[in-house]
Formats: sequence, structure tokens, C-alpha cells
Amino acid sequence: MKLPSLDYTCPATLAEAIAALADHNGDAKVIAGGQSLMPMLAFRLAAPKLLVDIGRLPGLDRIDISEDGIDLGALVTWRMIERDARLAQAHPLLAAAIAHVAHYQVRNRGTIGGSLAHADPAAEMPGVAVTCDAVLTIAGANGVRIVPAAGFFRGGLETVLAPDELIVSVRLPSWRRGRRWGFAEFARRRGDFALAGVASYYHLDAQGEICDAHAGVIGAADRPLRLKEVECVLNGQRPSVELIRQAADVARSAIAPPDDIHAEGAYRRELVGVLLERVLAKAGDIDMSEAA
Ligand SMILES: Cc1cc2nc3c(=O)[nH]c(=O)nc-3n(C[C@H](O)[C@H](O)[C@H](O)COP(=O)(O)OP(=O)(O)OC[C@H]3O[C@@H](n4cnc5c(N)ncnc54)[C@H](O)[C@@H]3O)c2cc1C
Repeated sequence: MKLPSLDYTCPATLAEAIAALADHNGDAKVIAGGQSLMPMLAFRLAAPKLLVDIGRLPGLDRIDISEDGIDLGALVTWRMIERDARLAQAHPLLAAAIAHVAHYQVRNRGTIGGSLAHADPAAEMPGVAVTCDAVLTIAGANGVRIVPAAGFFRGGLETVLAPDELIVSVRLPSWRRGRRWGFAEFARRRGDFALAGVASYYHLDAQGEICDAHAGVIGAADRPLRLKEVECVLNGQRPSVELIRQAADVARSAIAPPDDIHAEGAYRRELVGVLLERVLAKAGDIDMSEAA
């Protein structure tokens, strides 16, 4: 299908981009990589009067890694993350998760800012952001605000972004040495959106007990979720086959995925349990076949 008729602007500064959004009062849309927006325009799922192309805004494609955290500009693409060997070291969970995003063509153009703003419930980057306590820097006509990823997603394709706001960057807290972690997802074809995916990490204290457990899931609700119930079960325990089975059961009970054209909710619930078992087995280096 052809795109609807619309105007286009390619501002040179952040202030100009915000002014263009504010002037159109909800009738303008940011375009970054266009990998989600262009199909939405073609299918008439979005009908803005103006596209504000942020592709030339300076500084939005930076990747800064420091002891304080990892700052990723909104225009950082999947390919840039994948090609940055420092990031694989600095945040192995991020690198592992985004390796599942789409195909080369999409990965060359798709951006993390676009992914967060698009807020697909099965997208990897929102899941990583929520699981890892990321914070987003958002700029708009009223200034800049910092929003935790946990409060950014409001539902399927819905966020707290106001019409005149755009994501400038996302910060992931630094990855502490010695973390045990895993990421797993299942998609029917390589590069498709996942039916569900699970991320988790934790530390072992001096007694060999789990502390600071984080667990998150994508594809199980209208937004990425933290599995706090699972984290409670893990914290203070030693990794074991029994603990992993218990955590997986808790995960199954904690979610209520809806039926959709891709899978029934019951299937996704079971899938999340299986994926969490795999993730925790990998994190703890545990052979699940050891079970009695
Ligand atoms: C065939 C195919 C397969 C895919 N598979 C996956 C997958 O497996 N996993 C996955 O996560 N994604 C997948 N995607 C989506 C892809 O990752 C998109 O690139 C990404 O979701 C959006 O990034 P973009 O830069 O292309 O955003 P755009 O398409 O340009 O924009 C998407 C939305 O975000 C808004 N937006 C963009 N940037 C900003 C910003 N900085 N601030 C505020 N709003 C902004 C736009 O207004 C629009 O509403 C797939 C896409 C395709 C076409």
C-alpha cells in the first residue's frame, strides 16, 4: 500500500524537532529508522500530518560506557550494538537479547529509541530496559525528564510520551562483575517477534546464596513485565534444580497472557515457565536432567 499524504521535515537540532512536534499538537510523528512506522503508515494504523525525521540530530547515536552505566543514544541501531565489542563485555545481557531482533535489513536501520517508543510487548529492548532498571531521558516542550523504564510502558504500543516529546537516550546501570545471567526467547521463525522471552540475572553472596535477583518477561502481557514474585523466590536461596522448577511454577502463576492470533495464552504461560528454567539453568550452570 502507498503511504498516506503527509509533510516531512528533517530538523537539524533537538529544539527544532521538539518545536515541530509541539506545533502540530499530536498530528506529527517522530520517524527514526522507520522500520515500524513505515508499515504502520502503509496499513493506515498511523496517519500523522507531519513526519519529523530525527535521523540527523547530532549526538543521538552515541554509545558511552563508563563506571556509572551505559548510555545509548536514541538513534543507536541494533547493528551498532552488535558491532560494538565493548558492549558485549559491558552488558552481555543486552548483547544477547538484541541478537534476536529481526533481520539484517531491519537491524541496520531500526533504533533503540524507536523500539522503546513503539512499545511492542514482545520487543527485546523494552524487556531488557525493564529487567535491568534502565532509565530514559525524554525531551519535550516542557524540558527534559528522566523516566524509569518500569513506568514508561502503559500498554500495547502505548507509553507515557507526550505528543511533543521524544526519547533522547537510555541509561542501563553498569553491569556488575560476577553476575550470573541468561536470556532466552522463542519465535516461530528466526527474526520474528518472540512469542515470549525471559531475561534474568543475579549475584551469589559469600554463602553461595542468590541476591539481587532480577527477572523479566516479554510477550506475556500488554507490556514487558518484571517477575517480582520470581525474584522473591530466588533471593536468599542456593541455585538448584528444585529452586529453578519452583521459580518456573511461580512465573507461570504470575502471568496471564491473552490469546492472540499467534498463540493461546495458555501456551505462552507454559513457554515462559520453560524459558525461565532454561535461563536460570544457564545462569547457575545447572544440569536440569540431574533432577530426581
Ligand atoms: C520484519 C520486521 C521484523 C522485526 N522484528 C523485531 C524483533 O524481533 N524484535 C524487535 O524488538 N523489533 C522487531 N522489529 C521492529 C524493529 O526493531 C524496529 O526498528 C523498532 O521497533 C523501531 O525502531 P525504528 O527506529 O525503526 O522506529 P520507527 O519505525 O522510526 O518509529 C517507531 C515508533 O517510535 C516513534 N519513535 C521513533 N524514535 C523515537 C524517539 N527517539 N522518541 C520518540 N518516539 C520515537 C515513532 O514515532 C513511531 O511511533 C521488526 C521490524 C520488522 C519490519
